[in-house]
Amino acid sequence: MQTSIAERLFSIKRRIEGAALRCGRTPQSVRLVAVTKTHPVELVRTAVAAGITDVGENYIQEARDKFDALSEHPLSWHFIGHLQSNKAKYAVRMFDLIHTVDSIKLAMELNRQAQKAGKRQHILIQVNLSGEATKSGVSEQSLIDLLNGIHPLSHIKVRGLMTMPPFFDDPVKARPYFSALRQLRDRIRSLNIPNIEMVELSMGMTGEFETAVEEGATLVRIGTALFGGRR
Ligand SMILES: *Cc1c(COP(=O)(O)O)cnc(C)c1O
Repeated sequence: MQTSIAERLFSIKRRIEGAALRCGRTPQSVRLVAVTKTHPVELVRTAVAAGITDVGENYIQEARDKFDALSEHPLSWHFIGHLQSNKAKYAVRMFDLIHTVDSIKLAMELNRQAQKAGKRQHILIQVNLSGEATKSGVSEQSLIDLLNGIHPLSHIKVRGLMTMPPFFDDPVKARPYFSALRQLRDRIRSLNIPNIEMVELSMGMTGEFETAVEEGATLVRIGTALFGGRR
């Protein structure tokens, strides 16, 4: 028999709770972002009925269809894919939090569009800690420069950092990347740059979310464990 989304959600929440309690955190300090890319709106509806409040999408066009179809629900929308500046307008219209800002060009365009929309756009900075050329994200070395460029932008608010570690079969191997992101956050926080809050750490997916929670994740982005494999 197939496991329902409600049952999977229950088990994921239990695992998040366990990981949080193991390291002295409150389970409420971790938000589960349900990653719905490639899945039809009906499945997202089922997840919302089961109690999902935060939805993560990777592609603007796909998100627009779902956003319109689910507009009656008070959901938080997270953009977690690679964002091109020419799509910034749509991203600002839909998303409460954009996790993947990694350049001043994109930040400036988001600021411009947010100003037009009369919105303060909340963003995270995506950091590439592994140096893999195939991964998006600003390097650790360029992060402070980027933040110094962003902080004067009055329609943007930086809320924290996001990272994607390399893929490992063993979640233990991802731990150094998660702890590095936490340390980076703490270091930046101590600089007290105006307009730069360092409260969120978006890290951890299906394979390693418990490890990420143990290292301080406040947002875990989970697709496969909730919805099964993607087509
Ligand atoms: C697809 C995706 C996820 C979810 O990955 P799963 O392994 O299916 O949980 C999380 N974060 C990002 C940025 C993604 O693109």
